[in-house]
Amino acid sequence: MFYKITIDDLTLRGRRMFLRVDFNVPLEGGRIMDDSRIRAALPTIRLAVTRGARIVIASHLGRPNGKVDMKFSLRPITRRLQELLERPVDFAVDCIGTEAIQKSKQLNDAGVLLLENLRFYPGEEANESGFSQKLAQLCDGIYVNDAFGAAHRAHASVVGITKFVRQAAAGTLMQKELQYLGMVMGAPPKPYIVVLGGAKVSDKIEVIQNLLRTCSHMLIGGAMAYTFLKAQGLPVGKSLVEDDKLDLAKRILDSAAEKNCRLLLPVDQVVAKEMRKGTEVKICSVRETPDDWMGLDIGPATVENYSKELAGARTIFWNGPMGVFEITPFERGTLSLAYAIAEATKRGAASVVGGGDSVAALHKAGVSEHITHISTGGGASLELLGGRTLPGIEALSNH
Ligand code: ADP
Ligand code: MG
Repeated sequence: MFYKITIDDLTLRGRRMFLRVDFNVPLEGGRIMDDSRIRAALPTIRLAVTRGARIVIASHLGRPNGKVDMKFSLRPITRRLQELLERPVDFAVDCIGTEAIQKSKQLNDAGVLLLENLRFYPGEEANESGFSQKLAQLCDGIYVNDAFGAAHRAHASVVGITKFVRQAAAGTLMQKELQYLGMVMGAPPKPYIVVLGGAKVSDKIEVIQNLLRTCSHMLIGGAMAYTFLKAQGLPVGKSLVEDDKLDLAKRILDSAAEKNCRLLLPVDQVVAKEMRKGTEVKICSVRETPDDWMGLDIGPATVENYSKELAGARTIFWNGPMGVFEITPFERGTLSLAYAIAEATKRGAASVVGGGDSVAALHKAGVSEHITHISTGGGASLELLGGRTLPGIEALSNH
């Protein structure tokens, strides 16, 4: 992946640099509920500041569907960015056009300008050439992409613009994502444990197949486990199952056996009649799932098995919660594994976690700072791990 140029390869001083970031933060009435995506882009912005670039920052926010909708304005982000950078940040109310061009040309070395939401124009998602060219007018031939979370989208600010600049480079966050996700896709130090859970097998088939080739053990949990359990002929009650994926689940189990990867499934579980806070729960073996009940978390014996495997790991990749961790009392399995992964990391293992809900679970467990790398891109990381090429990375200039 490092055949692509990076921000370190660019001459920045005195030049306008177009920086695509992912500032798609959760907003409520103009208040930023979580600024981690803004923080994630700071190293690249600070580097560009230190090297005297004139920085023009662009992002999408939400889904305004190609129309101006002030609910999705990036203006509230200006202040937060200013506080975090401890330097002034100017704002352009339109991401293309005369005012934006003028403001970009008024920047001093190390000056920062934030543009309004790219998705206020339909040309962004349509990867329109004319729109791409207009974006490129805001820089002096240099483009940096640090929006890993948008790298799987062939949009104008991710792909189109690169045809109208001299150099298109990866930012530091992008590099870090590629480095760590590249590591877990390659042949990292063993034992290499992959923990997979979440809602659906169908979301993650390619990831399962790809990682089965290299991991030592794959630990399965979440709703996805029930498709595998049913494929093995076990009773699953009312648990979430993808009946059209039972054959596929069988094939995956067979291919794991051929590849010498041990695929582990839950042996026990937390079951309930409803997915609701405070509802009556039972712990039972996966051989004894009652007809009207559904499995909503892995059980204590499974937690113990999985934690033992994680304790000996040298490399860990985790995607997908082990249960409905948003609702008490179904969060214990997920939180326990988050602690186990953090402990293994403290003892020297490298850990990588990807997926929006898995990252939220890490925060809930309070162990985020003990993880080696937390991916900022949910969809993008799954596509990459599934073996696909991401258009936003392909579009960057080669060395
Ligand atoms: P990520 O965002 O980390 O990739 P997913 O989106 O694939 O994870 O899955 C997360 C969702 O799966 C959560 O909303 C969680 O409640 C749900 N989930 C996990 N286990 C179960 C289960 N046993 N039954 C129903 N839903 C589940
Ligand atoms: Mg999710």
